[in-house]
Amino acid sequence: MLKRRTVYNEEHELLRNTVRRFVKSEIAPHFDAWERAGIVDRSVWDKAGAVGLLCPQAATEYGGAGGTFKHNAVVIEELAYAGVAGPQTDISVHNDVCAGYLIRLGTEAQKRRWLCGMTSGKTVCAIAMTEPGTGSDLQSIATRAVRLGERLRVSGAKTFISNGQHCDLVIVVARTSDESGARGLSLVLVETDRPGFARGRNLEKLGHLSSDTSELFFDGVEVPVENLLGAEGTGFASLMQELPQERLTLGISSMAAAQKAFDITCEYTRTRQVFGGPVIDFQNTRYKLADLKAELEVGWAFVDQCLERHDRAELTAQDASIAKLWCTEMHGRLVDQCLQFFGGYGFMREYEICRLYADARVQRIYGGTSEIMRELISRNL
Ligand SMILES: Cc1cc2nc3c(=O)[nH]c(=O)nc-3n(C[C@H](O)[C@H](O)[C@H](O)COP(=O)(O)OP(=O)(O)OC[C@H]3O[C@@H](n4cnc5c(N)ncnc54)[C@H](O)[C@@H]3O)c2cc1C
Repeated sequence: MLKRRTVYNEEHELLRNTVRRFVKSEIAPHFDAWERAGIVDRSVWDKAGAVGLLCPQAATEYGGAGGTFKHNAVVIEELAYAGVAGPQTDISVHNDVCAGYLIRLGTEAQKRRWLCGMTSGKTVCAIAMTEPGTGSDLQSIATRAVRLGERLRVSGAKTFISNGQHCDLVIVVARTSDESGARGLSLVLVETDRPGFARGRNLEKLGHLSSDTSELFFDGVEVPVENLLGAEGTGFASLMQELPQERLTLGISSMAAAQKAFDITCEYTRTRQVFGGPVIDFQNTRYKLADLKAELEVGWAFVDQCLERHDRAELTAQDASIAKLWCTEMHGRLVDQCLQFFGGYGFMREYEICRLYADARVQRIYGGTSEIMRELISRNL
C-alpha cells in the first residue's frame, strides 16, 4: 500500500479508497482477459465515471468533483500501484491530458457539450499529436485542417494514439495555415462519428497490453469552426502550456509503479530460500534494495514538491521535464534490478514483476522521450 503523504488531505484519501475499491471490484477480476484482448471493456469507462474517477478536477457543473490536479494524482497513483498500466494510461490520457485542454481552453458551449460526457464516461477522449512521420518534432506535424467558410476539413494520419479504439472525441493537432514550424498549428475537436474518420488497427505492444493504441485516419473529415479548441494558430503554444502537466503525470505514475515493484521484491526476497536462507539475507540484496529505497524516497519528495508547485500554478516546464526524466529513468533502473532478484521467475508472465518490467519501458518514450526532456532542461541552465 502506498504510504500516506502530507501533500494530500482527508478528501484525497477518501478518493484514494474509492480507487482501491474500484480496482478490486471492477478492474482486477477482468484484467487478464483485457490484456489478452488488447483492450479494456468499454463499460469500465461508465463505471469509472459513476464513482467519480473521471476528470475529478472538473467543476461540479460539468459533473466533476470540483477538485484540483491533486485529485487526478491520487487516481494515477492508485491505478499505477495496482499494476494495471493499461487502464491507468487510458484514464490518465483522458483525465490528465485531454480534460486539461478542455478545461483551460474550451468555451462554455464546448465544456457543456463534451466535458460533461467525459466526466460521466459517455465520451472517451484521445489526443492525436504523433504522426507516422513525426513524433518528437511536433513542429513538423503535417495533418491539415483547411478552412471552408464556417467549416474545417481535416486530412491526415496519426499513430500511437492512446484510447484510439474507444475514443468518441479526438483533440487533433493540425496545421491550419501554410506557415511552417510552430506557427499555423491549431487544436481541432473531431467527433469520431463524422464521415471520413477511420480507426486503424489496435497496435500490438511490448507492455500496457490492455491499452488500446491505434492509428487514426482523417480523410476530409468536416467539422464546424466551433470545434476549434483555443484560437486558430495557437495550437503549439497550447501544447507547450499543457505538456508540463502530462509530464508530471508520467513522473507520478512511474513513482507509484516503481514503488509497487520494490514492495513485491522485498516480499519475495524475504520468502525465497537459496543456499539455506532467504535471498534478502545476502548483503548484495540488502545493499541494492537500500539503494532503491533511497531513490524512491528522493523521487517521492521531488514529485510532492512538483505537486505543490502545480497547485500554486508555479510548476515550470523545466520542473516537469526533470520529474519526467528522473522518475521514469529511475523506474527503468529499479524494475530491472527488482526482476533480477526474482531469478527465472521474473521472466515468467505469471509473476507480476514481469509485467511491471514490460510496462515500465514506454515511460521513457511517450509524453516526450528522455532525450527531449534533457533538451528542454538544458535550455534553461
Ligand atoms: C504506448 C504509446 C502510447 C502513445 N500515446 C500517444 C497519444 O495518445 N497521443 C500522441 O499524440 N502520441 C502518443 N504516443 C507517441 C509518443 O508520444 C511518441 O512515440 C514519442 O513522442 C516519440 O516520438 P517518435 O516515436 O516519433 O520517436 P522519434 O521522434 O522518431 O525519435 C526517435 C529517437 O530519436 C530521439 N530524438 C528525437 N529528437 C531528438 C533530439 N532533438 N535530440 C536527441 N534525440 C532526439 C528520440 O529521443 C528517440 O530516441 C504514444 C506512444 C506509445 C509508444
